[in-house]
Amino acid sequence: MTPTTASALTSQAAARGSGSTRVYNFGAGPSTLPEEMIRQIQSDIYDYAGTGMGILELSHRGKEYDAIVAEIDRDVRSVGNIPADYDVLFMTGGATSQNYIVPANLLPEGATADHIVTGHWAQGSFDDAKQYTSCHNSGATVHSAYHGGGDKFAHLPADSEICYSKSPAYVHMTSNNTLYGTQWLDAQGRTRLPNVPAGAFLVSDGCSDFFWDEMDVSKFGLIYGGAQKNMGTAGTTFVIVRKDLVARASKAIPRMLQYGLFSKEESRPNTPPMFAIYTVGLMVKWVRSQGGLKAMGQRNRMKAGLIYDALDRHAGTGGFYLPHAAKADRSMMNITFKCAAGPAMDDAFVAGAREHGMDVLKGHRMTGGMRASTYNAMPVEGCRALAEFIDDFARRKG
Ligand SMILES: *Cc1c(COP(=O)(O)O)cnc(C)c1O
Repeated sequence: MTPTTASALTSQAAARGSGSTRVYNFGAGPSTLPEEMIRQIQSDIYDYAGTGMGILELSHRGKEYDAIVAEIDRDVRSVGNIPADYDVLFMTGGATSQNYIVPANLLPEGATADHIVTGHWAQGSFDDAKQYTSCHNSGATVHSAYHGGGDKFAHLPADSEICYSKSPAYVHMTSNNTLYGTQWLDAQGRTRLPNVPAGAFLVSDGCSDFFWDEMDVSKFGLIYGGAQKNMGTAGTTFVIVRKDLVARASKAIPRMLQYGLFSKEESRPNTPPMFAIYTVGLMVKWVRSQGGLKAMGQRNRMKAGLIYDALDRHAGTGGFYLPHAAKADRSMMNITFKCAAGPAMDDAFVAGAREHGMDVLKGHRMTGGMRASTYNAMPVEGCRALAEFIDDFARRKG
């Protein structure tokens, strides 16, 4: 391999400030956090707000945690522009557990849930909901309204490609498909939603893009996700849910699965994952300090654009790179691509990037190739460094 010092790339030290041991972490989740937030966590672990106790040691019934809970609720609502008739809940079990918690609460006897299957996690949501209905035996069913496996989940459906059942209770979608690198966007790069049948509400797995940009939350019945991608650290699941749905959710399920219980008990019916919830609070404050969701969206489109432009300079017929997603459906959060020369070149890319201080670029084991995750906390400079490396690598190896 060409010695990296011979390339024109920005060195890691120059990019991060000399003395930094940190790399640009392009991991899909858990993912990178803002540097100033990590410093805050370091200090709060030792002594939280002058209490003489660390954040990991506080009581979940104490007044410090009371204040944290109240503040997070306020901040998530104001920064996320979440209407008053929605609950902001923090649960456990990850996004994956919502695959059965959603139907357990919101799919009545004999009703149908329609799923738009646009990737790996969407498939998991469909499979788990189906498994739940079959073991719960309530006559409820799950219907696949669209399945994108035919083109390896490279594009997202137009409304005309979706076949809903007669009168679904709700429609489940996955707003950003983390493995395949597609995201529901319109021509302006803003969140796009499918048109759902009258009477149905929309449930979105927003695990890998919630808070990526401004969004009209009132279009959804429920949005959920694990915090570890764009919202904080692993350990808690955010659930944004309309209050009337909580009110009419099933009570004939185990208590700890009930949205109503979490709503009534301020997301602490038992000992909650306080540290993870606290990190969501820090993340939301950080987003506000960066100008809020509107600024976040603009910056995220610009960041992803730097990387897609670099790939496109070396793509197309006979090109060096093969971007996976259809252009119109490209994710602003997870950028997926391969080297045309094959897996050995992919490995060389990942290794070369690591030498330049950019890590966790290997694609998911199901897709191969590369994946660059550019969530809110990934700095512009990280994306610029990767774009330069993409250009440089293609020139050297092409
Ligand atoms: C990561 C991910 C999940 C799984 O999240 P867990 O919190 O690990 O259960 C589900 N859906 C999407 C879209 C994801 O990106």
